[in-house]
Amino acid sequence: MSLNWAEVRNHNKMKNCIFCKIIKKEIPAKIHYEDKDIIVIKDANPKAPIHLLIIPKIHFKSLNEIKSKNQKLLGKLLLTAQKISRKEKFDQNGYKIIINTGENAGQSVEHLHLHLLSGDYKKSGQI
Ligand code: AMP
Ligand code: ZN
Repeated sequence: MSLNWAEVRNHNKMKNCIFCKIIKKEIPAKIHYEDKDIIVIKDANPKAPIHLLIIPKIHFKSLNEIKSKNQKLLGKLLLTAQKISRKEKFDQNGYKIIINTGENAGQSVEHLHLHLLSGDYKKSGQI
């Protein structure tokens, strides 16, 4: 099967993408939750007592690449955050969800992900 140029470019990006490598279990991570669409890992450099990354298994560079046909997945990412907060019992104390998008936001990993932060993160500096 031959790939067109856009597919080749995307394939190369995924090959070098750290989160794709975690999803494929090519590099280790502390996995908090996983299903067919999503993986949730502990952030390697936590900025809060609870700092999880909710990552879709499909490679999207950022929120900018999401289309309306992906809205179910986007909803699932948010609901996963809500479910984890309930299960881990920090839903009532509060939590923060961040999606850094692009250079000015300081996005450092070019694979869409939600940061889920809780605990007393105000003491831990900003993200
Ligand atoms: P962002 O700056 O929004 O792109 O966030 C990327 C996050 O990924 C940062 O908080 C990093 O600490 C985290 N991170 C980078 N590499 C890894 C890794 N191998 N395992 C877990 N977290 C990572
Ligand atoms: Zn990726």
